[in-house]
Amino acid sequence: MVTLLLNASYEPLTVLSRQRAIQLLLKNKVDAASQEVELVRSSTSTFQIPTVLRLRRYVNVPRRGVRWSRRGVLRRDNFTCIYCGVQVDEERRGKILTKTDFSLDHIIPRSRGGRNTWSNTACSCQPCNTRKGNRTPHEAGMALLWEPKTPRVNYLVAYGKIPAEWKLYLQLSD
Ligand SMILES: [Zn+2]
Repeated sequence: MVTLLLNASYEPLTVLSRQRAIQLLLKNKVDAASQEVELVRSSTSTFQIPTVLRLRRYVNVPRRGVRWSRRGVLRRDNFTCIYCGVQVDEERRGKILTKTDFSLDHIIPRSRGGRNTWSNTACSCQPCNTRKGNRTPHEAGMALLWEPKTPRVNYLVAYGKIPAEWKLYLQLSD
């Protein structure tokens, strides 16, 4: 488990390793912003690390875009198909879907000038991807279930499921 760090303004800044979270807690630079905690034991003591921390003092951070990546898009969309809503670990036609059943879809196809950007790419299941082919969703008569957005923080270093309490601050697609 890792911790989401918020600015004093509640704006998400980054994802912290356990060590970094402990350092900030020990220096009294942060307060808990979530009820949920993780217990971490060292040889000498036990720490309770909240899954969301908030800086006591506002820091001015220049806004940098989160770098686009294929993995990042699939992760942002939680391995959920933007066209039919099917999700990883769900069953379809007697088969449990895994992450490899999902791929990146260019909403405006690359052959038509669509680029690798957060707003032009989304997670799609294979049947939807095939059905859409080299067409725009409009041409294919397929609707987007949500609007693909640029994530506000690079949460991709987190592994496993994104903690529920993070979603409050990340304002992802849901
Ligand atoms: Zn689909």
